[in-house]
Amino acid sequence: MFGTARWRLTVWFTLALGIILVVIGAAVYLTTRAALFDQVNSDLESRAGREQRLLVPRLLSRRGGDLPGDLIIGPAFTTGGYFYAIVAPTGEFLAGTPNVDPAGLADTSTLEDALRDGHAFADTESSEGDSLRVYVVRLDAPRGERFLMEVGRSTETEHQALRRLLLVLAGGLGGGLLLAAASGYLLSGRALRPIRAAMDSQRAFIGDASHELRTPLSVIRANAELLKRHLSEPVSANHKAVDDIISESDRLARLVSQMLTLAQADAGQAALSLSEVALDELADEVARSMRLLAERRGVSLETDMSGPVRLRGDGDLLRELMVILTDNAIKYTDADGKVRLEVRRASSGKATVRVSDTGSGIPADALPHIFDRFYRVDKARSREVGGAGLGLAIARWIAEAHGGSIRVESDPGVGTTFTVELPV
Ligand code: ADP
Repeated sequence: MFGTARWRLTVWFTLALGIILVVIGAAVYLTTRAALFDQVNSDLESRAGREQRLLVPRLLSRRGGDLPGDLIIGPAFTTGGYFYAIVAPTGEFLAGTPNVDPAGLADTSTLEDALRDGHAFADTESSEGDSLRVYVVRLDAPRGERFLMEVGRSTETEHQALRRLLLVLAGGLGGGLLLAAASGYLLSGRALRPIRAAMDSQRAFIGDASHELRTPLSVIRANAELLKRHLSEPVSANHKAVDDIISESDRLARLVSQMLTLAQADAGQAALSLSEVALDELADEVARSMRLLAERRGVSLETDMSGPVRLRGDGDLLRELMVILTDNAIKYTDADGKVRLEVRRASSGKATVRVSDTGSGIPADALPHIFDRFYRVDKARSREVGGAGLGLAIARWIAEAHGGSIRVESDPGVGTTFTVELPV
């Protein structure tokens, strides 16, 4: 899937650049061509004008009907390949410079245009196949006679320059496209990398989630089937199955709500509802609500507050953060152990929430992973005490969403301490 996307991006990128290069190339080519031929045209026009000024008085001064055989046209020495000719309106050649090539003179339709409008341009070809540009001017002689003067020159140098420009532009286009394809392929690979990583982790998340959801569902189903098989018996005879269904449903509900929290966090939709929060009072509240659970497990739960600690944050999320850490500490501490919940204002100006226990601890090789989703050090034991491995992932998200951080220190067999630092 990513391979195709990468190729597609590369092709689009190359195509877009190709279009841009072609448009720029065409603009360069056309403006250069226009500039070159404008120069040729104005050149021919000014030469024709000069010749006209010399020629017309001579035409006016003659008497006979025909052109005098000695009519001289054009400069004595034609330089730069310019040629001059006088033709009759029918196109008949009357006089011209020695270098005139009759094949290169204007065709009759251009002559007609010149007779009508006074002047016209034509592109012709010499008998040797060279491109020529010819300017035709109408000469009005006395008694309504009309002649046409043609001034022209070869445009081979211009055409050659344009061919060379075209070659350079085509080379540039080819090279540009090759470069665009290579860099497009590289860049799209780099651009797709984070998307691929996100999709991979999403896929892993869905896989783990389905796996976690399956267990409580199959327990619920097994217990429901058991009840169905004993429909005639009173429910009290199978109250264990009913208890299991309730506790597994609770587990499912908790799991789904944790997954929802993380999904919203990922989508950036979990907006914090910020208000002034008294962190010490929040911790007291959490300790009060968890004391019963701790007592039931024979664990003592102490609190230690240095005084009022206030900050701007989301009270519900901060409470959840403390519940997750305290609940874990109680869960992973054996009877007669101690759990301590501390809230302090650190000298750095930060607020610190610290939850420490004298529990089983976390092995060093597991420490880097405990904030990962669905990660549990001891799967069997965690399931027994009710976790799916999402609690710490949520705790980390809450800490980071408040601009804070969370860290853990643990000594297997001695205890674990989670420290959350929050900006005040
Ligand atoms: P769970 O819901 O399974 O408790 P958590 O994300 O909260 O998931 O914790 C991940 C794992 O980290 C737990 O399965 C447990 O192995 C370990 N852990 C978390 N807190 C403690 C603690 N206070 N003492 C020992 N192990 C802990």
